[in-house]
Amino acid sequence: MVNSMTYETIIGLEVHIELATVTKIFCGCPTLFGQPPNTQCCPVCLGLPGSLPVLNRTVLLYSLRACLATGCSITPLTRFDRKNYFYPDLPKAYQITQWYQPVGQNGQLRLPGSGRLIGIREIHMEEDAGKLIHDDEHDCTLIDYNRSGVPLLEIVSQPELRSADEALLFLETLRRTLIFTGISDCRMQEGSLRADVNVSVRPAGSSSLGTRTEIKNLSSYKAIGRAILSESKRQADLLRSGRPVRQETRRWDEDKNTSRAMRSKEEAGDYRYFPDPDLAVIPIDADWLQSIRASLPEMPGAKQERFRAMYALTDHEADLLTSDPVLAKLFEDAAALSGRAKETATWIMGELLQICKKRSCHPGDLDLAAADLATIVTQVAEGRINRGSGRDVLIAVVDRGADPVAYIRKQDLHLIDQPDELEKLVAETLRTHQQAVFDFRSGKEKTLIYLVGQVMRCSKGKADPQAVTALLKEFLQN
Ligand SMILES: [Zn+2]
Repeated sequence: MVNSMTYETIIGLEVHIELATVTKIFCGCPTLFGQPPNTQCCPVCLGLPGSLPVLNRTVLLYSLRACLATGCSITPLTRFDRKNYFYPDLPKAYQITQWYQPVGQNGQLRLPGSGRLIGIREIHMEEDAGKLIHDDEHDCTLIDYNRSGVPLLEIVSQPELRSADEALLFLETLRRTLIFTGISDCRMQEGSLRADVNVSVRPAGSSSLGTRTEIKNLSSYKAIGRAILSESKRQADLLRSGRPVRQETRRWDEDKNTSRAMRSKEEAGDYRYFPDPDLAVIPIDADWLQSIRASLPEMPGAKQERFRAMYALTDHEADLLTSDPVLAKLFEDAAALSGRAKETATWIMGELLQICKKRSCHPGDLDLAAADLATIVTQVAEGRINRGSGRDVLIAVVDRGADPVAYIRKQDLHLIDQPDELEKLVAETLRTHQQAVFDFRSGKEKTLIYLVGQVMRCSKGKADPQAVTALLKEFLQN
């Protein structure tokens, strides 16, 4: 029996953020990414008998920043629990996480555009596991424990998202909020942000929740969007043909654009959670909490509003400039120094982001001082150099730390600003292009563009095209 019922999709996200601390969560080992395997381990992160964990205070501080930035209420007595399971990347055979008293609960994030509030059920701290490396050539699996004990925050949303687009918007809003608090770089390509997606479908208009499946370890927006679409279609097809959805964990295959069942979904009971006796209960000091709250920066949503109002930016400009705290600060500082907000926005969104894109790097990786950007913006806006030269100066500043003013002088990039010099160039061009002059005077107005091009060529690109056009018109009409 096949029905033609319409189904709606319900999505919840579990987002894992790697915290940007210098050392691990329960020991002093460094957290550097990309080091040789098993060079950043000690008895604690290897789970050797007799070793004892000690909580890294910065992990707690960063967790509290995340909780406050997402409107969570803080659990006054928070503590750690053991989640028991056996897997080779987890040498203790349990993960230290928070089950009974997560550090934050009942927060929310407002989605831009629709303004919809999406609930955050909880935020908890936990340790990451090691990494398995499958070696097909030698038919074996190797284990790298460098990641073991790297601090993670898990942020669990309520199942209140209704489409793949909305889930992605929530994730982007969360990502921005967290990078502005300075607790993580949230770079998906380096694994510092990963998401598990819970998907269920129900007949449109129904208020109960259907059986959900979980798709694990998605590490790009593209994969998350496609996994949600594929899974909600799979479930709706099952229900339409009268078959049940099984509660299970699924693995997304990016190449095949489909997911497959990994295992039936565990219940909490399977993990035999209990409080970790090696770690003390943590009372959260009210004064400390107050000082953390006071130190939080302006959040990206508020900043976006302010940019629009204060600098007369478009929605798109304000959105892009607040996508990253480095970009937002560079914009505000350079706009203040140059007194030209709009032009500064255009330079950042055009030339600067293009440089980043070409080099697949982040704006923060380019060591660009706001004062240097302001100089370039001002030189171009005042017609002292042309835009193309401005771009060259920017690249010289970013690549070699050049001083923009010195570079412009050394490369002789200043436009011709002496009127008699420009007049000489125009007169010379007209004298050597008699046919074009004749054509223009007999009504072929397009010839003007050709003549502007000839003057620009004579000037070796150092004339201002607008001034040349005006001067040519004046000459031709007399
Ligand atoms: Zn260690």
